[in-house]
Amino acid sequence: MSTGELVIKDLRAGIPGREILQGLSLTVRSGEVHAVMGPNGSGKSTLAHVLMGRPGYEVLGGSVTLDGIDLLALPTWQRARAGLFLAMQHPIEVPGVSLVESMTAARRIVPTEENVPDMDERLHTEAARIGFDERFLDRSLNVDLSGGERKRNETLQLSVLRPRFAVLDEIDSGLDVDALADVGRRVQEATEEWGLGVLAITHFHRLLDVLRPDVVHVLAGGRVVATGGAELAGIVDRSGYAAYS
Ligand code: ADP
Ligand code: MG
Repeated sequence: MSTGELVIKDLRAGIPGREILQGLSLTVRSGEVHAVMGPNGSGKSTLAHVLMGRPGYEVLGGSVTLDGIDLLALPTWQRARAGLFLAMQHPIEVPGVSLVESMTAARRIVPTEENVPDMDERLHTEAARIGFDERFLDRSLNVDLSGGERKRNETLQLSVLRPRFAVLDEIDSGLDVDALADVGRRVQEATEEWGLGVLAITHFHRLLDVLRPDVVHVLAGGRVVATGGAELAGIVDRSGYAAYS
């Protein structure tokens, strides 16, 4: 069981000429689920990109550490190796590379478990658990997949790689109720199975009925403007963000 913490302190970051995150702080511990809610344009995806080191974003101040390791000093693949995973809001198509191939390659650089399991077997087991059609395992990554299938695919990668911390950028967008339940349940189980820590960016309360948050943060203008328990998600759902901007 993984134990540790992902600590974001006073993070300031953006794109050239524009500061988007303006001093953001939060700490996620292993096994915890933190929800990040916030209006469009509040900087949620920017946070996800900056955590993973996407080119084009610059860090202007603050720190991000995973068990004391300075993530911001590392290239993306080494952040992944340290145990960080990002489920993208808009998963990209990778023609010519199958899920099996990409997961096998990723497992080589992300040795999160002592005994590497049979990847093929785990892919099939995990695909069945979240209702991801096995026919897609050997086809080009995300090519011709619907929005919902792509989100199941992101969840499948998460459950196969077993990272220590996962940032889920609107994993619920484009999912119907059944898919939402499958995805939410799988992530919830991961927090218990290997102590996954989760930063779940979402607009909607619906996901959080399945993936129960320990802490809810409201983001506005690139800052955390409110933090509370699961009840905060319900309040935001009913009253909107007007009170926080
Ligand atoms: P959210 O995910 O909360 O909707 P984003 O983090 O995507 O918000 O965006 C925050 C703000 O920064 C928006 O105004 C957006 O247009 C801007 N922004 C983010 N990334 C870029 C980028 N790569 N180029 C230009 N503007 C960007
Ligand atoms: Mg976004």
